[in-house]
Amino acid sequence: KAIAEFSHAEAATKIASLRAKLKEYAAAYYTADAPVVEDAVYDEQYRDLEDLERAFPDLVTVDSPTQNVGGAVLPEFTKITHNIPMLSMGDVFSLEEITQFNQRIVTATKQPGEYSVELKIDGLAISLRYEKGRLVEGSTRGDGNVGEDVTENLKTIKAIPQQLTEPIDLEVRGECYMPKTSFVKLNEQRERDGQPTFANPRNAAAGSLRQLDVKITAERNLDTFMYTIVNAADYDVHTQRDALAQLTQWGFHTNPESILATDLTTVQDFIERYQSRRDDLPYGIDGVVLKVNDLAEQQVLGNTVKVPRWEIAYKFPPEEAETIVHDIEWTI
Ligand code: NAD
Repeated sequence: KAIAEFSHAEAATKIASLRAKLKEYAAAYYTADAPVVEDAVYDEQYRDLEDLERAFPDLVTVDSPTQNVGGAVLPEFTKITHNIPMLSMGDVFSLEEITQFNQRIVTATKQPGEYSVELKIDGLAISLRYEKGRLVEGSTRGDGNVGEDVTENLKTIKAIPQQLTEPIDLEVRGECYMPKTSFVKLNEQRERDGQPTFANPRNAAAGSLRQLDVKITAERNLDTFMYTIVNAADYDVHTQRDALAQLTQWGFHTNPESILATDLTTVQDFIERYQSRRDDLPYGIDGVVLKVNDLAEQQVLGNTVKVPRWEIAYKFPPEEAETIVHDIEWTI
């Protein structure tokens, strides 16, 4: 049934049922690191909810999944409040929607679009805080405002410097991921041990980092790609491209597969290149991220309650090997 045909009461019923389903899926995904449906199923129902809420704005509530960063803080971990929230990201599924995003940016900034185009790494977001060059705190995104203290777990990851060469105060963010080979080996081992396997490298990374016994994290061979300097202005870093270069210089792992794009043909070429090459990469990706390159413009554009307005993720179509379970009919 098309949205235009929904009465207010029908929309309310449909919205309630979509929210209930999405919350159930999100609980399995974020709390247990064990999704019960494919991402594409989640994404489709999320989109249906967004479309209905757009058509019936009075039905939007603060507890809707569209208004909250999905995520969980496991009770056994110490909580860390993020000074600057760790947000989710708006996603799009077509080049037409990227064009619309670019138009919004050009209109708002009155500048031609200039983007850092990066791969969307299939892992979980982490934040690292350094005082006088020493790693003092590491956390997960959690619900965006409050994350889990996984400092000791993160210290087991070789890619994360525990001591920088300069005695600087710094907060950086990025993605913690499990390389594909480690993911395959881990699942083989778990199968042999009669343990449930992880659905994908992202859930495996999240399940491996959020362990009370850091020895388990240490065995899981996690890696990182950092992409954000939270206090970039302190270091005279004014663009996302310079942030990536500075992070590399400080000794963090950064993803080498990224470009600066000043036109959408370049963005499209990048998307097509990595969509076809994704199986050849040693880590999982599920799309491409466009970020307004100028950090001052990012500040001006700001955020919604859930996502930055200055970045967007283009999500790849689901891989053919995945079975998509369409368990909700678009009816009420
Ligand atoms: P998201 O993971 O789609 O996007 C935001 C995240 O992208 C950031 O937090 C960051 O960790 C990550 N990221 C990766 N590469 C990045 C880069 N280069 N620059 C910046 N950030 C980068 O958003 P989300 O809100 O965390 O989760 C929604 C996703 O989770 C959807 O894809 C959805 O399908 C999936 N999900 C699935 C289920 C399920 O049941 N299968 C349930 C809930 C959510």
